[in-house]
Amino acid sequence: MKLILLGPPGAGKGTEAELLKKELSVRHISTGDMLREQVKSGASLGQQAKRYMDSGRLVPDDIVIRMVSERIQELGIKESFALDGFPRTRIQAESLDGTLEKSGRPIDLVLYFETSAPVVIQRLSGRRVCRQCGLNYHVQNMPPKKDGICDQCEGELYQRPDDSEETIRTRLKAYQDQTAELIGYYQAKGLLRKIPGDYEAIKLFEYLKDLFQREGLS
Ligand code: AMP
Repeated sequence: MKLILLGPPGAGKGTEAELLKKELSVRHISTGDMLREQVKSGASLGQQAKRYMDSGRLVPDDIVIRMVSERIQELGIKESFALDGFPRTRIQAESLDGTLEKSGRPIDLVLYFETSAPVVIQRLSGRRVCRQCGLNYHVQNMPPKKDGICDQCEGELYQRPDDSEETIRTRLKAYQDQTAELIGYYQAKGLLRKIPGDYEAIKLFEYLKDLFQREGLS
């Protein structure tokens, strides 16, 4: 199963990708997580990316394209994966087409998380992330068992700096201006499936499993 998860920040792409990983052994490839790792490690790529990420703007295409192509080449040919947060521009989408064609791994489906603005804002402003393993929580929708502590690895939970109100606005604008056109791009290829991004996580995962069955993917 080769999937692209498309939708605005806060649509639940990362949460569904983690469920896909746990229950269906689908690799979760998140460019946001990869970039945050680079920032944490102090690598020069991370230093270049940080100022874009902190202000809510997209990191330049060449940086993310290189990172994702390398990651895909590392995977076994039969391995399932879900791309979360990539592609985010038409240039990235066209480059991904080339990479996948060359390596004989065509995309099966593009899941478009259709999500309303109030839900996105509520999710992003209450999101908390584990500093150690990167798992996502939400202060109301998905709280950890112990306040401020990750259930999985006991790491400290923090609020991402780009989940502040002002940066959320910039990220949503970047989505509208640079990413939303990919809905039409993948619709034209017959790959796009709209899914109800406002559903809570478990209900949406059940919806996805039904969809995969209907599509002959499971
Ligand atoms: P995310 O965790 O997917 O919300 O991504 C966090 C931030 O990382 C974004 O706001 C961008 O600054 C950067 N980023 C992640 N993926 C991409 C991408 N495909 N293209 C450009 N920037 C990206």
